[in-house]
Amino acid sequence: MIIEESIAGRSLLARLDHGAEIIGQITDLARERKIKAAAISAIGALSRADLGFYDQAGQEYRVRAVEGPVEIASCTGNISLLEGEPFVHAHAVLADSSGHILAGHLVRGTIFAAELYLNELAQADLNRAHDFQTGLKLWAGGQAQGVGN
Ligand code: ZN
Repeated sequence: MIIEESIAGRSLLARLDHGAEIIGQITDLARERKIKAAAISAIGALSRADLGFYDQAGQEYRVRAVEGPVEIASCTGNISLLEGEPFVHAHAVLADSSGHILAGHLVRGTIFAAELYLNELAQADLNRAHDFQTGLKLWAGGQAQGVGN
């Protein structure tokens, strides 16, 4: 287990831009504000999205395109560092016009309207590194070293 203890830092509320790509815009915000670690959540609507499902045996994401407008019923995630740069990891529960749900790893999404709540973790220094067991880039602690079991 990797544990990073922190204290609450800045809290940001942001109205994201119509037509922007949501993961990219949150990444830009983190870079501009020099945020290295945070918990995030968002609600709103996307005009389209790509959702990922991680194939655990094949160790790769299968990406499903979600064409057409959807509500962001829930979007939660975090920000940490990958190779020194802010990296946004977010999952989303999206609802279509019938209320049917599509959910998964949010690869990208085009914003119709979105409100972001970001809670900075001021003393955390979480770096992602390749994890050989899962094939994912997971938290490896402040030193970005590989970890055992
Ligand atoms: Zn994910």
